[in-house]
Formats: sequence, C-alpha cells, structure tokens
Amino acid sequence: GGWCACERCARLAPSDQGLLVCNAVADALAPDVRLFHLAYHDTLPPPESVRPAPGVSAEFAPRERCYAHPLDDPACVTNRPYRQAFEHHLERFAGRVHVFEYYGDAILFGGCAVPLVDVCGRDLEYYRRAGARGVSCLTFGRYSLWAHGANIEAFARASFRPAEAPAARTAHCVRRFGAAAGPMTRYLTALETLMARVVTYGDVKLPPARDATRATLDDALAAAPEVRRLLRDAAATARASASVAAEEPLLDYTLATLAALRQWAAAAAGARDEAAAEHAATALGDAIRHVASVPVEVKGSWGAYDLEIANAFYVASLRARRAAGG
Ligand SMILES: [Zn+2]
Ligand SMILES: [Zn+2]
Repeated sequence: GGWCACERCARLAPSDQGLLVCNAVADALAPDVRLFHLAYHDTLPPPESVRPAPGVSAEFAPRERCYAHPLDDPACVTNRPYRQAFEHHLERFAGRVHVFEYYGDAILFGGCAVPLVDVCGRDLEYYRRAGARGVSCLTFGRYSLWAHGANIEAFARASFRPAEAPAARTAHCVRRFGAAAGPMTRYLTALETLMARVVTYGDVKLPPARDATRATLDDALAAAPEVRRLLRDAAATARASASVAAEEPLLDYTLATLAALRQWAAAAAGARDEAAAEHAATALGDAIRHVASVPVEVKGSWGAYDLEIANAFYVASLRARRAAGG
C-alpha cells in the first residue's frame, strides 16, 4: 500500500493510518452507518495507537495464511501470527470483527483444483467460538464452483452449523456428479490431501525459492498417480455425467501447474539454474492449454478470460523475481 510518511504519520503503522481514515469517514457519516477497517496485507497487524470509532468494525482478511491447517491449529507456525492478529482485533474492536475468507479464490490457488472441506469447517467453528460477527467468502462465479465447489458447499453449511462441513463433500458430489458421487467423493478427499502439501505459503504460483518447497511439491506430485486413478474410476462409472469428464482437464491443469512450480523451485533454490528457471516459467504459462477446451458453461467467464491474464501475471512475477535474485 501507499502509506503517508509526513511528520505526523511517519510514526504510525499502516494499520493505524488506515484506521485514522476510517474514523474520519465514520465521523462524517450518520452514526448508524457501518464502516469496515481492512485488516489485510500491510494492515493485518492490529492498530496500536489509534482506537476505532464506535461505528467502525474490522474486516479480517488473512489471505497469505496456511490453508493446510485450521487458523487455530497450534502446530501451524504460519497461522499462529494470523490467529493472534485476529484475536487482538476482537479485543481492540470490542468484538466488532468480520472475517473475509478465500476458500473459493481462484487467484490465490492459481486456478488449481483445491478442495478444503476440513479446514473450512474447522475454521468456521473457530471463528464462531472466538466471537467473529460474520464470515464471508470470495468466489469467482462458475470457476469457483468447478475448482472449489466442495468448499463453497462446506462454507454454506458451516456458516450455520460448523460440524456439518464434512458432509459437504458428499452433498456437493451428489448434486454435481450424480451416479459418480461415490468415487468422486473419494477422488476429492485424496485431492484435498495432495493439495494440502501445497497451499501453505500464500499464492500457489509464487512458491518460496527454497529446497523445502521443491521437496513438498515432490511429495504432492508423488501422490498424483493415485489421485488420477481415483478420477479414472469415477469417469468409468456407468452413467457418469459430463461434469465428471470436465474434472480431468482441471486435474491435468493442476498437476501441470505443480510440475512447473516444482521445476521452478528446484531451479531457483541453491545454485541457480537460469535456463531451467526460464523453462519452468514457460511451462507454467503453457499449463492453461489444458483448460482451453473446457466449455464456458463449466469454467465461466473467469476461466475463459481472466485465468489467462492472472497466469501471465504469475509467469511475469516468477521471471521478475529471478531477475531480482529472489
Ligand atoms: Zn500524513
Ligand atoms: Zn500450516
């Protein structure tokens, strides 16, 4: 973000500067107007010196958290500061905190198939227990129903009764895949385990250039043949619908993306291999060819147009990172 560096503001953290603006707007509006201070990126840490006006709530948007573990999982080192930030917001805003979640975010997950039923259910249970006033979930129309459909179902169920999230996998599969619901449920469960290795560091297509990233991507890809076999079983079901067939290009795209990211992580970590890193960036760009033939009724306008734009951004980011030596 662009933060003020004037004499008065220089000592204020971004969260305090953001809240100052919110308070000023609240002051100018009618007292019953509800206003949200964004706790997002730079402003994720709670404000330190500025107190929220009574009509100002916080919108907590932990986009770069780890999605392999629930937000309150004490064993997840990545999520610990996010949980702390969330609970500090509850204190500073006297409970006026809403959560903005990303279980259907095709940009964060790079358009890959990412089922997150368990984490979604456990998060919502935690958010409720901790006292969040509301939770919303970013979606990208039909693309999210395709790549994250079970999560949308889990979110809808868990926003009423968190304990009902696990049933979302089956409910989603019965509705979308009809006769193939059983094998599709097994497929999505296995895919959820595979992708949990990947969704730990924020934007899927911006992996940290570390050897550990390459190793986790290796592990994820080692599970790919079994996941692929489960999808073939589902496709072989008598009366399997066109929706089942549409899952195969999505899995091809997802695995091609992971393979390119694995290549990039291997090339960028340690002794850098420039040619291999460039090759990986090109492979990441090429991966979207798997989605090209999928009907727009399945992938939506986001899959038809926006995915290509978003992907080009990530390919350029990886190339720029290489040039910057990061
Ligand atoms: Zn200033
Ligand atoms: Zn984690």
